[in-house]
Parts: sequence; C-alpha cells; structure tokens
Amino acid sequence: MPLSPEQQAEIDELRSQPRETLRSVAPGMEAHLYKALPVLDHGFVRVIDYMGDDAAICQAARVSYGKGTKSVQNDEGLIRYLMRHWHSTPFEMCEIKLHVKLPVFVARQWIRHRTANVNEYSARYSILDREFYIPTPDHVNAQSVVNNQGRGGVLQGAEAARVLEILKADSNRAYDHYEEMISQDGQDGLARELARMNLPANVYTQWYWKVDLHNLFHFLRLRADAHAQYEIRVYADAICKVVADWVPAAYGAFEDYRLGGATLSGKALDCVRRMLKGEAVTQEDSGMSKGEWREFEAVLGGSE
Ligand SMILES: Cc1cc2nc3c(=O)[nH]c(=O)nc-3n(C[C@H](O)[C@H](O)[C@H](O)COP(=O)(O)OP(=O)(O)OC[C@H]3O[C@@H](n4cnc5c(N)ncnc54)[C@H](O)[C@@H]3O)c2cc1C
Repeated sequence: MPLSPEQQAEIDELRSQPRETLRSVAPGMEAHLYKALPVLDHGFVRVIDYMGDDAAICQAARVSYGKGTKSVQNDEGLIRYLMRHWHSTPFEMCEIKLHVKLPVFVARQWIRHRTANVNEYSARYSILDREFYIPTPDHVNAQSVVNNQGRGGVLQGAEAARVLEILKADSNRAYDHYEEMISQDGQDGLARELARMNLPANVYTQWYWKVDLHNLFHFLRLRADAHAQYEIRVYADAICKVVADWVPAAYGAFEDYRLGGATLSGKALDCVRRMLKGEAVTQEDSGMSKGEWREFEAVLGGSE
C-alpha cells in the first residue's frame, strides 16, 4: 500500500472540493486528479495538475482567437498531421505535473530527461522511510547473454530465494544503521545529509515532475519501450494510461506514429523497395551491418 490513511484522507478532501473555472478541462484527466496509481511495491504516480487538452493543441497550431476547435474529426486529422511531420511546438502547449514515488536507481534513469522541472524530497531535511524496492520473484532475472544492457530468464529455486533474501536483509541492515546513526538518543546524532549515504539504491524517493506533452512523449517513447528497464517501464506504462485519458487524439497519434511506428534508414527503405519488386534481398547485399539487418527484420516481422 503506497499511501498511508492520512495521505489518502488528504487526497479525498482535495477531490471533494471541485471549483468552477473558465479554463478548458479534460474530463478524463479530472477523473485522475490527485489519485495515486500504484507502481512497483511502494511507488506511485499521481496527477497534481495539468494544462490543456486536445483542443489546446489545435488552438495553438491554428493560433486561434477562440477554442480553435473545428470538429472532432478535423482536430484529430490536424493532430495526426502535426505528429507525422514532427511539428512539435503545439504539443508543448499542454503540460502535466506529476507526483512520483520511485526507487533511487529508477530516479537516476528518469532524471536524465532534462526537459522537465523537478523538485525532489530532501533527505537532508527529512528522514527517509524504511521502504525499499524488492522485486517480485518473476522479476528476479539472470544477466542476458545476448544484450549486455538487459536481463535474461527468471532465476529459479534456491538461487532466486537467496537473492531475494540478500536484497531484503541488506536493505534492512542499512536502514537499521541509518536510524542508529541519526538517533539523538544519548548521542549528538549524525546529520541526515551524511547518514543517507549508507542507504542502497533501492530506497524510495519522491518528486514533483512537470513536463510539457512534447517532451513527455519523448520520455514515453524511450521508457515505455521494450528496451527500457522493467522498473522504469512500469512507471511509463502508468503515465501512458493517464495521457490516453487526458489527450485521447494526441495519444492515439503518438501510439500510432511513435510507439507502433518505426524509422527506416535510407538503406532499409531501399531494401523494402527492392523486396516490393520481388527481389530476394539478403544482409550481404543490403548494405546494412548484421545488427542493422537483425533490427530491420524484426521491424518487418513485427517483433520490435
Ligand atoms: C534504453 C536506454 C538505455 C540507455 N543507456 C544509457 C547508458 O548506458 N548511459 C547513459 O549515460 N545514458 C543512457 N541512457 C540515457 C540516454 O542517453 C538519454 O540521456 C536519456 O534517454 C534522455 O534522453 P534525452 O537527452 O533525449 O532527453 P531530454 O534530456 O529530455 O532531452 C530531450 C531533447 O532535448 C535536447 N536537449 C536537451 N538538453 C540538451 C543539451 N544540454 N544539449 C543539447 N540538446 C539537448 C536533445 O535533442 C534531446 O534529445 C539510456 C536511455 C535509454 C532509453
């Protein structure tokens, strides 16, 4: 359970006080506001605020005086056109502010996305909770033998049990020492900003993360992808659901052109053209490296 009863009561109170506004609202997003979507064992994503909707993208694209909406069909066509042609600035007119609770090793990957505004929980000021990410047994995998930056099959039996035991015991021992060092019971107590250095990378942190829709799509394209590490991918997947409810037309275009689409190099496109003419093209006469050819075949075969 990622939220305490007090935190849940705060959210319920916020949700019980709707206010009138002249701003455009997205009904799908109103349903998400303040609620926490659970992710991993102690994490969550929740929408704190947002600006804009599908109509705001069209309004900006048309630099309109009014709502900028013509018809739903017309707007959807415009949004698809903008996405197809990488006309990105209208998507920057929409913004989202999230509260995210995530393990530190996930935060290290996440923070690489520089085009967002972040404010993180201060472990100099506050005491961190005894909350560590411990994977479920189906996510305790061996090192991949084909991809140095990935994982292979799930560890089994005694090895899996021992790994989980080590993770739990080390996390708890580190936290016991953290508590011992900051304690002011009969001693001065080490500063929190120093004591935290002893905590492992699976300890949870929290931040507010604000980003515009264009840069959010860039984040989701990279992190809701099979190549992304599972532990960040589940956050991206949760955000995808929120975005689909917020801006359904823009998300539909993103899903089609970016998540579901593929970019082909000039050489790959040439191979497709030769194949369409009935030519048997091989890696050797494609002009592509073995790695490129493997990825090209995966795109054509629909496995990537
Ligand atoms: C599967 C995967 C594996 C990865 N592996 C590694 C790894 O092994 N090591 C590692 O260090 N990182 C790794 N990364 C992180 C990756 O290299 C990027 O740092 C991260 O994905 C953020 O992407 P970004 O810079 O495009 O995003 P953002 O920071 O959001 O930037 C968006 C775009 O804005 C522009 N931009 C932003 N800031 C600048 C700037 N200062 N100068 C110029 N242009 C800018 C760029 O066009 C950029 O693409 C990995 C990422 C993924 C998804």
